[in-house]
Amino acid sequence: MRRKLAAGNWKMNGTRAALAEIAAMAEAAKGGAEVLICPPATLLAEAAQNEAGVAIGGQDCHAKPSGAHTGDLAADMLHDAGARYVILGHSERRQDHDEHNEDVRDKTRAAWDAGLTAIVCVGESLAERDAQNTLDIIGGQLAGSIPDGATGHSLVVAYEPIWAIGTGKVPTLDQIGDVHDFIRARLERRFGAGVGRSVRLLYGGSVKPSNAAEIFAVSNVDGALVGGASLKAADFVPIIQALN
Ligand code: 13P
Repeated sequence: MRRKLAAGNWKMNGTRAALAEIAAMAEAAKGGAEVLICPPATLLAEAAQNEAGVAIGGQDCHAKPSGAHTGDLAADMLHDAGARYVILGHSERRQDHDEHNEDVRDKTRAAWDAGLTAIVCVGESLAERDAQNTLDIIGGQLAGSIPDGATGHSLVVAYEPIWAIGTGKVPTLDQIGDVHDFIRARLERRFGAGVGRSVRLLYGGSVKPSNAAEIFAVSNVDGALVGGASLKAADFVPIIQALN
């Protein structure tokens, strides 16, 4: 059985005052679903110390364990600060920082070496969907971004169509189901049925309290990676409850 996962990606939002929102989410985290918040790195350690019931994750890590990389964070530093997850290959990193599949694969290896679970993000642009290239793009991202040796514990895959992020646009439930079924089949083919069936698959892109339940009812959707609606407990708690 795959444990449901409600994951919040705070992106570049939040100062210490926002830690109160995580505290307010902790009660809802006592249900069946696992709750994860990935705050800015400045809040990681304090968030991890304060809230035992809410898992904490990073939003990126460097591929190297240490060295002359000004401004970057090693996976082991995230782990040391209390993180247990790290989001890798988010489309905003791929766009803003020119990250390619090989970079994401190297970072994922580094995350695993540090004992973190990697949430590897994949997703097509609107032009790619319109050209009916969605599954080719996703297949290439999966093959290129995930190293050999994945397990159900070390890997989570998030499907985030770029055109659905922060836009209020959501694919149809059939479209979400088609991509999640495809990802599941690819993981089973590459890693074997046991591992392939144990990796959790998250949907991300304009998930809100009003659409969460119907999205969570789609086959092979094991939870969500939520941006804007994870910043406030008032929005995120109903999404967690839709999974519990
Ligand atoms: P929104 O939920 O704000 O659309 O963001 C989704 C996302 O990018 C999560 O990683």
